[in-house]
Amino acid sequence: MSKEYDVIILGAGPAGLAAGIYAGRSRLSTLIIEKSQDGGQISITDSIENYPGQIVDGESGPSLIARMTEQAAKFKAERLSDTIKEVKLTGPVKQVICSNGTYEAKSVILATGATPRPIGCKGEEEFKGRGVSYCATCDAAFFEDFEVYVVGGGDSAVQEALYLTKFASKVTIIHRRNELRAAKSLQEKAFANPKIDFFWDSVVEEIGGEDMLQWMIVKNVKTGETRKVEAKEEDGLFGLFGFIGFLPKTQLYEGQIDMENNYIVTDEDMHTNIEGVFAAGDLRKKSLRQVVTAAADGAIAAMQAEKYLSNL
Ligand code: NAP
Repeated sequence: MSKEYDVIILGAGPAGLAAGIYAGRSRLSTLIIEKSQDGGQISITDSIENYPGQIVDGESGPSLIARMTEQAAKFKAERLSDTIKEVKLTGPVKQVICSNGTYEAKSVILATGATPRPIGCKGEEEFKGRGVSYCATCDAAFFEDFEVYVVGGGDSAVQEALYLTKFASKVTIIHRRNELRAAKSLQEKAFANPKIDFFWDSVVEEIGGEDMLQWMIVKNVKTGETRKVEAKEEDGLFGLFGFIGFLPKTQLYEGQIDMENNYIVTDEDMHTNIEGVFAAGDLRKKSLRQVVTAAADGAIAAMQAEKYLSNL
């Protein structure tokens, strides 16, 4: 076992990195553990237009997160790439057991975020990466001049549909209701875009194809009618992007931390039910999940961790 940190932060999305900046700047010995690239969901988001100060043309999720990463490192928050296998959160010393080692700290900030919710149609698992995607920034170029379908009606679905129009020959938004949930400004852009079409009151029931995605069964939830949508003969495939919300990544904490519908319950200062354990960002039960609220959560959690440590 190596050194005992003041605080270990689980996850390097906006919440985790903001916590790292604030903890490091408070001179707490800080370790951020993340299994993949920094940024969480915004590492795969093309445009972030409502984070205060993010107004430079051409800026993206990855460029915003790169600056947050640099800032956390500047304040001496250590960054470890490892997969978290288990956490032991009770007691004065918290343990984080990873694939390559076990790490200890007096306090922990849980900031592991959320993951895209599956579309829920038959065949989805089989066609992941063969037509089905949850990341337009990652996979849009693959569908250059092909048709794509986007499932969902929220900000993510409409924003990513707009992005996909730069690549695809046509983008059809499939939404389970007859009006969008997305912000009005995004709706206006989508309705004005000649490349975007809509299937209202519709859900995808089943998808299939020989190797790549070639057909899907779409059901009208009002009439019960189903229709088979097929790839254009000259294309031989189409893309299906799912943007129907997220599921919190909290399985690791089950049985230790109070949760509601798998979201961690905190007070407004990010305290969980366990002393010295804080939660920040999209895995928390709250009303608005945005980069700006994740970053704010991270800042509050770090300052509360500092207060907790100074009272020990
Ligand atoms: P969201 O706001 O939860 O929207 C999810 C959409 O998927 C809704 O339209 C919902 O339909 C639909 N849906 C949910 N479950 C479904 C199912 N099983 N089958 C079919 N459709 C289903 O999720 P989000 O768009 O990913 O946004 C998440 C958060 O990030 C939100 O707070 C959003 O504002 C924020 N965000 C902001 C921006 C931005 O630029 N401001 C960009 C992306 C995300 P119903 O409408 O019928 O419920």
